[in-house]
Amino acid sequence: MVHRDREIHRTGAEPSDGEVQYAGESFWAIPGPVRPVLTFRDVETTAYCPRKQYYRDRDADPDGEVPGRVRERAALAFRYRDLLAADDGTLAAAPIAVAPTTFRSRLGAARARLDAWPHLVDPAGRNVLLCGKDARGVADKVLGTAPPAPSIVFAGDPPDRGVWHPQRVRVVAAAMALAWERETRVERGFAEYPAHGVVREVPLDPRRRDEYRTALRAAARIDDPPPRLSNREKCAACEYRTDCGVRTRSLRSLLG
Ligand code: SF4
Repeated sequence: MVHRDREIHRTGAEPSDGEVQYAGESFWAIPGPVRPVLTFRDVETTAYCPRKQYYRDRDADPDGEVPGRVRERAALAFRYRDLLAADDGTLAAAPIAVAPTTFRSRLGAARARLDAWPHLVDPAGRNVLLCGKDARGVADKVLGTAPPAPSIVFAGDPPDRGVWHPQRVRVVAAAMALAWERETRVERGFAEYPAHGVVREVPLDPRRRDEYRTALRAAARIDDPPPRLSNREKCAACEYRTDCGVRTRSLRSLLG
């Protein structure tokens, strides 16, 4: 495992006696052998494909530069009030992924449906580093609801219903970390797909906790390359498919 090395590289901090530092603050101190520090992204990637996480570890793949398009889309999650009041021309010029009328209607439905809406519009915290017992990472928003809840912003497309499994795992990771850090109860998290005007709640129920723990255990155990997936749709979207040697069908072959 190379998480620790990657962490040192990322922060520039020198660990000592089993301690790793982030931005000058100790957040992980255990006696004996240094335990790998998992990030929300590690757990999310493992939930997608453990072998993909193996490649990320092998390459010490840092989060790196966030593409401009991703940043622009994510920024929409902090402009809901303006976007709801915007005319079609303004929306059409924004980096949204659907027609202005669809966008406005979805956002209006989210406002009517979600009791946490005012907190999603004006979160108590933005880009908050959360350090949990087992994983740490950044929540795009921490809502000042009672109890508090984290929200993660995704620049991609949402599924027709619910939240994609790896992204759900990431939201739960953030919720568990928030509960641990603040020693409080956390009952839910949120997944936002702002380019689509979609906001979905993720309850912290036993099934979601199990999904998270399964991914966490798998991420902590990756030493040798895990088996390849049989789900070629996932492989087609994976940046490691060449290293991995999986054969994915091209669009041309799918069209016959
Ligand atoms: S190509 Fe498929 S099996 Fe290989 S790492 Fe990516 S998702 Fe996993």
